[in-house]
Amino acid sequence: MNNTEAQRCLLCKRPKCSLDGCPVHTPVPECMALYREGRLEEAGRLLFENNPLSAITSLVCDWKKFCFGHCVLNVKQVPVRWYEIEQEISGEYLKTHRLERSQETPLSGKSVALVGGGPVGISAAIFLWEKGADVTIYDANERLGGVLRYGIPQFRLDKAILEPYERMFAEAGIRFVGGTELGKDLTISKLNKDFDAVLIGTGAEKAMTLRVPGEDNSLVMQALPFLKNPDAYPLGKKVIIIGGGNVAMDACRTAVRLGAETWVYYRKTFENMPANPMEIEEAKADGVQFRVFQAPVEVHEHSVTFRDCENETDPETGKVSTRIIEGTDHEVECDHLILAISEKPDYSPLGDAQPQLDEWGFAVKDELQRLQIKGMDNIFSAGDFLLGPKTVVEAVLSAKTATENIAKYLLGA
Ligand SMILES: Cc1cc2nc3c(=O)[nH]c(=O)nc-3n(C[C@H](O)[C@H](O)[C@H](O)COP(=O)(O)OP(=O)(O)OC[C@H]3O[C@@H](n4cnc5c(N)ncnc54)[C@H](O)[C@@H]3O)c2cc1C
Repeated sequence: MNNTEAQRCLLCKRPKCSLDGCPVHTPVPECMALYREGRLEEAGRLLFENNPLSAITSLVCDWKKFCFGHCVLNVKQVPVRWYEIEQEISGEYLKTHRLERSQETPLSGKSVALVGGGPVGISAAIFLWEKGADVTIYDANERLGGVLRYGIPQFRLDKAILEPYERMFAEAGIRFVGGTELGKDLTISKLNKDFDAVLIGTGAEKAMTLRVPGEDNSLVMQALPFLKNPDAYPLGKKVIIIGGGNVAMDACRTAVRLGAETWVYYRKTFENMPANPMEIEEAKADGVQFRVFQAPVEVHEHSVTFRDCENETDPETGKVSTRIIEGTDHEVECDHLILAISEKPDYSPLGDAQPQLDEWGFAVKDELQRLQIKGMDNIFSAGDFLLGPKTVVEAVLSAKTATENIAKYLLGA
């Protein structure tokens, strides 16, 4: 128990940490009050009912951006470390929790297929099962978890935290069918016919490319497959990672742990990096070296040519953009180049049932998050597949909304 920290919370009537800072509006003051009274089980239930992944989001959320960053004490004092208290409550609660169906089970007799067993699949399965639905999760991977198991490294998130979900699903009769890939082992038209509703939560795994000469060279690899199974990639002495997001930070921190001299090259500057700033600091502390304002322009057999960049400000609009400086080419030797530029959703597993796309190439969806696929009105979407690469807590929120939409659809409301 950390009552000293809990006593610092002002139990605000309008809690900014929850209402403005947290995508799933975690009921912080209510849980904090219960915690102070030692009523941890009740606090755990509140947290789980609102966000079944609270034991995980409290570990991996960028809390400086979310709850901690919005604490009212930021103005004059040190904000409350709510995420630590949340970890304590939710971690304990998860160990023994069993799923319970609410008294009303409006979706009883309805079947729902979830494609993807990441944060979307896990949270949607719980919300739908609690409402009475018969739930089956299909995933290309052998085990439950998505990026939580196959992306975020063990040194940041202990995979043992996923075991209670596997236990709860087995107890509740939520089927997890691993090693089953939509587009190969399953078709969307079969799911459309066999289930009352289908939710696609296959994430955003399609890697973006550099579009420079030499990119198909054997020293180049993508960050996501590397993170999924780092030991399968014997790294050379020197590794360069290109990118500045969370994936780049996990890749460089993994490479450095495998003994490589590791560099991150990024086109813009530190302030522009989308990665959680704490992750950047951790990477530096791990011994990763950074070069900013560097754009790769060509990949060779054992090296990469970079060109310097700089920021320039538009005198009229004040908008800052980064431009490449011609004539600054320089070659940097390396044994491996890991690309962590960005990812997007992959629609190819939908086969012939391709959804309508918008001008940016993202699937168009209606107000119920349904994909616009000819002849199918029961295909819903959520998480990174719907939004592009985001965060775990945003995937939970998206799954929550999707399950409410599925319920409306199935009940004809
Ligand atoms: C390396 C990395 C580090 C990250 N770090 C953080 C962090 O610290 N904090 C944070 O909040 N967020 C982080 N994120 C983002 C976060 O993990 C994602 O936003 C979140 O996992 C999205 O959940 P999802 O369920 O939509 O997709 P995913 O977690 O990607 O799960 C998708 C699932 O679908 C399955 N699948 C894909 N295609 C098929 C198919 N054709 N058939 C069947 N199954 C399929 C996959 O196997 C996978 O299990 C990170 C992401 C990555 C990649």
